[in-house]
Amino acid sequence: MRLLLFVLIVLFAYLFLRKLLKDYQSGRKTQETDPRHMVRCAYCGVFLPEGEALTEDRNNFCCREHRELAKRDKN
Ligand SMILES: [Zn+2]
Repeated sequence: MRLLLFVLIVLFAYLFLRKLLKDYQSGRKTQETDPRHMVRCAYCGVFLPEGEALTEDRNNFCCREHRELAKRDKN
């Protein structure tokens, strides 16, 4: 009977730790893709939410025009 109790405690501890780990991982994931994270337009320098930015060659742009202008300036 004591063994059964021990097994149950270990099982609960395992499930609890697994839940903690899962919460930690999902929390970190949402932080990485946080739409409120601000990035800077590589052309005009304005800050905008990462979710609204256009990304090309690891540069962020506030609009399609600036993406095209930056590309033209480079060439
Ligand atoms: Zn811009």
